[in-house]
Amino acid sequence: MSQYPQSPLMGQMMHQPLLISSIIEHADRQFGKNEIVSRRVEGDIHRYTYRDCHRRARQMANALRALGVKMGERVATLAWNGYRHMELYYAVSGSGAVLHTINPRLFAEQIAYIANHAEDQYLFFDMNFLPLAEAFAAHCTTIKAYVMMCDRDRMPKESKIANLLCYEDLIDNNTDDYVWPLFDENSASSLCYTSGTTGHPKGALYSHRSTVLHSLASCSPDGLNVSARDVVLPVVPMFHVNAWGLPYSVPMTGAKMVFPGASLDGKSVYELFEQEQVTFSAGVPTVWLGLLTYVGQNNLRFSSLKRTVVGGSACPPSMMKTFMHKYGVETVHAWGMTEMSPLGTVCTLQSNHLTMSEEARQAILEKQGHTIYGVQIRIVDDNFKELPWDGKTFGNLQAKGPWVISSYFKGEGGDVLQDGWFPTGDVATIDAEGYMQITDRSKDVIKSGGEWIGTIDLENIAMSHPAVLQAACIGIAHPKWDERPLLVVVKKQGADLTKEELIEFFQGKIAKWWTPDDVTFVDELPHGATGKILKNKIREQFKEYKLPTA
Ligand code: ADP
Repeated sequence: MSQYPQSPLMGQMMHQPLLISSIIEHADRQFGKNEIVSRRVEGDIHRYTYRDCHRRARQMANALRALGVKMGERVATLAWNGYRHMELYYAVSGSGAVLHTINPRLFAEQIAYIANHAEDQYLFFDMNFLPLAEAFAAHCTTIKAYVMMCDRDRMPKESKIANLLCYEDLIDNNTDDYVWPLFDENSASSLCYTSGTTGHPKGALYSHRSTVLHSLASCSPDGLNVSARDVVLPVVPMFHVNAWGLPYSVPMTGAKMVFPGASLDGKSVYELFEQEQVTFSAGVPTVWLGLLTYVGQNNLRFSSLKRTVVGGSACPPSMMKTFMHKYGVETVHAWGMTEMSPLGTVCTLQSNHLTMSEEARQAILEKQGHTIYGVQIRIVDDNFKELPWDGKTFGNLQAKGPWVISSYFKGEGGDVLQDGWFPTGDVATIDAEGYMQITDRSKDVIKSGGEWIGTIDLENIAMSHPAVLQAACIGIAHPKWDERPLLVVVKKQGADLTKEELIEFFQGKIAKWWTPDDVTFVDELPHGATGKILKNKIREQFKEYKLPTA
């Protein structure tokens, strides 16, 4: 496998393949009594331990063997964050098969496309997804049977799906007498399709080695900083880039795990935080917006929460400040993507920053941060010439590392690497200390008079206005300047704000020519399957829009 030459003198350490099964084995041996708590789609709270999880994962591995699942074959899941999903993470990958997590927020046709492309052999689903599974099952050509993740007494009397099995039957009918097989660490372990805002979704195929290395790096103090003293609630779904690797990194540390199931509204997440004394959580800004709105409206406090990692899209500075100043909760800004397992950068401070003014530190913390060991980044111009790390020059962001994709599943999209680097599609600056800041996605950047306007900055300023709940900035065609910014805004409930007031609010905060030409108010913004604002939908919606300056 290795393309590199061997030294005449090789090291003499044990060669143990880095396998995902070793993580749950470690959690069982070292932290066997530590808890995994799940809010189930059944409505109740389920509790058990890492030892129980390991035992049931072995029972499920035996069940998969009995079903004839072979190494490298894909087994799909359509499920929320919960203990059964976690068991499948280990049972499927640990036994050498490939866990294909599917996003249930996709349409039935998209799911069928992905399942057929992946050639999934079995599909496990949470019981509330039965109608969805019934809608796409007829279009899936490779799935031999569907497994409903529930007890026998919850199985439907009849279903449009002919081969419907019961998860708990599979567990009950199999013993835990199972030894995790050893195999090459470069074997595929799991598969996740990108949300595919343009064209068909493409699969990122992770390996055992990439997953274990990503987990090791992400636990580190200047990574996600997870330890055995934490109680972790991943809000980020297990169907989206493996919940940012938390189902692997958390058991690695032995921290108590809390799964929120399908209830991701502010009230449900808050109650679970308090009930289980969660210290650390991770999710996209949209989820935190819901949580902060609920907590603010009800005058509540967080009694245990210390840190949240925010990524997936830019974290508005106003959100960071509310978390810190009102609730004493630290927000850690992180950047990554499906193609990067996902973690690329995390924003944590260094000792020389600690004596800086609060404002200067805040300015650093608003960036997406430095890479964690393993990942390298650079910015280049359109001719792939590397650009300086001066915090001002922005260019196309590229990345490389052992958990960064080298090609998509089945070679879709052809050669993706540019000179050995993965083009992220993001536009960023990198400062002299190596802190990266995303200014935009390259397809969202506004081209005005031959210069670029980064929309994230404009959105962050808009969202720091007390009357603004959410904002998205898009480029609108302009006869003189090519494109000019239009700000599309959702006001906070009951808030009063005119477009003139909001445009005035930008004065002095930004170069004058970056100021949005116009503001339009809407009731809500369209969100995609992973909770991100869909700029292409907004552009479509406003494609005939005439700017007052045009
Ligand atoms: P998709 O499947 O839609 O690409 P990903 O979760 O892989 O979903 O999205 C990755 C993209 O999300 C990045 O390329 C970047 O544009 C955006 N992103 C992720 N984290 C951040 C962040 N902290 N700030 C700004 N953008 C981010």
